[in-house]
Amino acid sequence: MRQLLSPAADSTGDDLKPDRWNMLVGGSPRGAAAGRTYPVHNPADRSVIAIVPDGEAEDAVDAVDAASEAFVSWRETTPLDRATALRTWHDLIRAHKERIARLLTEEQGKPLREARAEVDFAAGYALWYAEESRRVYGEIVPSTPERRALVMQQPAGVVGAITPWNFPAVMITRKAAPAIAAGCTVILKPAEETPLCALALAELGMEAGLPSGVLNIVTTNQPEKVGTVLLEDERVKVLTFTGSTEVGRRLYGAASRHIKRLSLELGGHAPFIVFDDADIESAVEGAIASKFRNSGQTCICGNRFFVHADVMDEFLKRLLKRVGEMKIGAGTDQNVEIGPLINDQGLRKVEEHVADARALGGRVLCGGEALGHSHETGAGAFFPPTVISEVTAEMKVFREETFGPVLPICTYRDESEVISHANDSFYGLAAYAYTRNLARAYRIAEKLDYGIVGINDPVPTIVEAPFGGVKESGLGREGGRQGIHEYLEPKYVSLGMS
Ligand code: ADP
Repeated sequence: MRQLLSPAADSTGDDLKPDRWNMLVGGSPRGAAAGRTYPVHNPADRSVIAIVPDGEAEDAVDAVDAASEAFVSWRETTPLDRATALRTWHDLIRAHKERIARLLTEEQGKPLREARAEVDFAAGYALWYAEESRRVYGEIVPSTPERRALVMQQPAGVVGAITPWNFPAVMITRKAAPAIAAGCTVILKPAEETPLCALALAELGMEAGLPSGVLNIVTTNQPEKVGTVLLEDERVKVLTFTGSTEVGRRLYGAASRHIKRLSLELGGHAPFIVFDDADIESAVEGAIASKFRNSGQTCICGNRFFVHADVMDEFLKRLLKRVGEMKIGAGTDQNVEIGPLINDQGLRKVEEHVADARALGGRVLCGGEALGHSHETGAGAFFPPTVISEVTAEMKVFREETFGPVLPICTYRDESEVISHANDSFYGLAAYAYTRNLARAYRIAEKLDYGIVGINDPVPTIVEAPFGGVKESGLGREGGRQGIHEYLEPKYVSLGMS
C-alpha cells in the first residue's frame, strides 16, 4: 500500500491528501494513458484538494484487459479465500476509518459525523459479502427418474461499475464486495467529483490481499468515454450503475447491443406520510433525519411530506423549532448538520425548485435563499434547511428530485387518498410512514408501490436487507442476500441417468 495514498514527492506530511493521485489498473497505480489530469474540489470552499488522472477509453480498455485476465484465476478461488480477503478489507477500512471519513468530507462535503457513519456502513458491506460468499448454494431440482437436474451458481464475469458522488464510500463496497465475493472482477468508475474515497478503498483492498486486476479504479472527468467502453466491450458481462434516472435510461438503451446484464439504482421521490395516530415527536425527528441528512442529497430522502390535517399544527411547530436550531457549515466544523451542496449546478436546481414553488403559491416558512451568494463569490454552495407549506402536485418540488435541503409539506385527511397521492410518481424507490397502528402499518406497507418502505424508520438502509426500487427507480437489488445474485449466473445442468 501507500503508493496511492502516500503524499507525492513534492508534498509534505503523512496525510491522505497528496497533490497527485493515481488510478489503479491491474494492481498498478498509474496516470491516464493520455497524461491528462483534473482537479478535485472541496465543496465547502472550492479549494483544490487533489489532482487525479483524467482517464479515457484507452484506460478503460486496459482495465477491462486486466479484469478479464484476473477473472480467469479469481473465479477458481475458494469462497473461503474470497471471504478472507473481504473480511481483511473490512478490518482495514475500519482501521483507517477516521482518515477515510475526513477524505470523504473533504471531497463530498457532508458533516464528519455522517462521513464516519458512512465509512462504517461501507465496511459493513465488505463484511456481509465476506460472509455471503460462503453461502451461495446451488439446487438439486426434483425431476424424472431418467435425469438428475442441478442448478449451479457461477460468477457472471467482468463487472463494470459506475457510482455517484453522494455516497463516495458506501457505493464502492456495495457494488465491489458482492461482485468480488461472487468470483467476479471489477472495473469501477467513481463520480468525477469524488474519486478519492474510491481510490483509498481500492488501495486498502489491495493491501487486504485482492490480487492484481480484481478491483480496478478508472478515474475520469469524461464519464461518457469510460462508460462507453464498459457498455460496448463484450467482455464486460454486468454493468451496475447508481445515479440519475436520466443517465440510467441512456445506459439501459445502450446495453441492448450485447444484451448486457444491468443493475440500476436510480432516482427516487419518496413520500413521507404522518398519520394522526403517529408519535409526532418521533415523526419530526424522522423527517429531519430523512430530509436533511447529506443536505438532502440522497435518493431515498423524503421529498413529499403528507401530514394529517389534525396533527399538522403540532408537527409544523416542532419541525420549525428543530430546523431553526440546525447548524450550517463546512462538514469539518463542530456540530454541523447541514454541509454544502456538491456544486453550483446542484444549487441552481434547488433555487429553481424553490422559486417555482413560490410562484405557484407555496409558502416558504424558513430558509429559501442560498447563503453567501455562491454563484458570485465562488464560496461553497450553502443552502439552509427550507420548509415550504401549501405545496401542490403541479410544483417541481412535488414531482422532481430536488436533491437539496427543501422539505415540501401538505395536509390530507383520508388514508386511501394519501396512498394514492403517494403512489402518483414514476419513481418507486423509498416511502415512509409514521403510525402507531399495527394493522395500518401492514396495510400501507403492502399498498405503497416502492422497493423500500420505512415505517417509523427514516433511515432504513442496512447491509442485511435488499436496497432498490421499482418503476423508473431501477432494476435489481443491492445488499442483503439478494445483492450477490446480481453477479451470479444460474446454470441448469441436466444429467441423463441412462
Ligand atoms: P448525478 O446527477 O447524481 O451526478 P449522474 O447520473 O449524472 O448523477 O452521475 C452518476 C454517475 O454516472 C457518475 O459516476 C457519472 O460520472 C456517471 N455518468 C454520467 N453520465 C454518464 C454517461 N453518459 N455514461 C457513463 N457514465 C455517466
